[in-house]
Amino acid sequence: MIDIETETRFAKQKLEDYIVNLDNAKHDRLREYRLQSQECPVCYYMIHHIAGSAFTGYTCAMCKEYFSWPNTATPSLCHGCAKKDNLCIECGSEMFEYKDVVVTIETREKNHQDYLKKEEQRKRRNTRRRELYRKRKEWLRTPVRESHCCPS
Ligand SMILES: [Zn+2]
Ligand SMILES: [Zn+2]
Repeated sequence: MIDIETETRFAKQKLEDYIVNLDNAKHDRLREYRLQSQECPVCYYMIHHIAGSAFTGYTCAMCKEYFSWPNTATPSLCHGCAKKDNLCIECGSEMFEYKDVVVTIETREKNHQDYLKKEEQRKRRNTRRRELYRKRKEWLRTPVRESHCCPS
């Protein structure tokens, strides 16, 4: 049983969040805070880790030292290493800007191919389902032989 109204609201909310986040990333609306926390636009605006509010220990992927983080969504690097090489503390990429990202024709093409593949898989699944359904129907129509096991 699904609650259509709730699901619709959730789905729309998801898209709405996505649009707002992307818009914030595009205009780098919280640039000052983003740079302070040493995060790339993707990690800062697009990925919202669901974090438990408990101090959590982690090892920096560069200096291998042990650090403490105020929640459970620990980063990849420590602040020192990230700052020194100007990397994103979360994912370890260079601190790029939104405008550095160019959507290439290859990306569009790959995306399109992914959709086509997904559609193809769906079609195959449906064919298989139809086939099973047909077999089951046939089976139901097969007359049951009289049983000889228990003569009266
Ligand atoms: Zn480090
Ligand atoms: Zn990042």
